Amino acid sequence: MIAILKQDRTDGSAEQLYKVLTARGIIVQEIKGESTLMFGLAGDTSNIDVDELARFECVDSVIRVSEPYKLASKKFHPEDTVIDVAGHKIGGAGNFAVIAGPCSVESEEQILSVARDVKAAGATFMRGGAFKPRTSPYAFSGLGLDGLELLKMAREKTGLPIVTEIMSADYLDAFAEDVDVIQIGARNMQNFTLLRQVGALNKPVLLKRGLSSTLEELLMAAEHVMAGGTRKVALCERGIRTFETATRNTLDLSAVPVLKAKTHLPVIIDPSHATGYWHLVEPMALAATACGADGLIIEVHNHPEAALCDGAQSVTPQVFRRIMGKVAKIREAIA
Ligand code: PEP
Ligand code: MN
Repeated sequence: MIAILKQDRTDGSAEQLYKVLTARGIIVQEIKGESTLMFGLAGDTSNIDVDELARFECVDSVIRVSEPYKLASKKFHPEDTVIDVAGHKIGGAGNFAVIAGPCSVESEEQILSVARDVKAAGATFMRGGAFKPRTSPYAFSGLGLDGLELLKMAREKTGLPIVTEIMSADYLDAFAEDVDVIQIGARNMQNFTLLRQVGALNKPVLLKRGLSSTLEELLMAAEHVMAGGTRKVALCERGIRTFETATRNTLDLSAVPVLKAKTHLPVIIDPSHATGYWHLVEPMALAATACGADGLIIEVHNHPEAALCDGAQSVTPQVFRRIMGKVAKIREAIA
């Protein structure tokens, strides 16, 4: 971090800033030009805010040269994080997580049928929303706690761990008890209170990128979850808002190599919410695999045309099986 000081600062103000920073354990290097003075800050600057420095009267501008996150940073933790849920892994060389299932849990028959089919095709986790964020307050918003019960039943029958979204802190206890990987949806990526509370459960978390969030904001959200307590966080790119209307969102596949250079956390791609159309799920799932994603989350429905949520982007179990076959070939080719 570099603080550039004003030329017309009041006497003693630079010394005052120097004292404040060194008292916080920061190493301050003075860089003097003919008429300029800059402070180069070294050490752990992750808990120093640009705004905090800019508040000093003598500071003209501040430039960040290292990331504002630490727990999520590869610099502080070079080894890849591997999340292990009873032998089902997310992250780490050689592991590829496939989370599959319907957008929402609708009935016992539906979740059992889809869970069995995706397991047979090679999925390693099952998904299914019990609490759904819906744009319209009149749309189906999930079965709630009854949906969690159905997910538990499907887990018992298939052995697949449950990935499902938490919407409210009211259900922290239920999720701590019943859910294997707690999903934080795009709409809650910056609900910092919820991030902390979920982090404090010390459980695996799948954190989805906000609709219009930068990758740095996603990493800062992960930092919030980790500051809450857990170290088991996986990131999910699920498409971002752009001017393009041909797809529901725009899949930012470059997020994979960019994030993997910056963080040790696994990166999962969601081609379903990213594209909004079932026929685009396969090509994007294959591209995600080829570019080094640690896994996929895919919406699968036994009757997409009758789905209560996101039917247009849900693939059938048959298509899912075909995607899995091609994903396996790509993984072999790039291994
Ligand atoms: C979902 O996975 O069901 C979901 C609502 O996703 P997102 O938060 O990415 O929109
Ligand atoms: Mn969905």
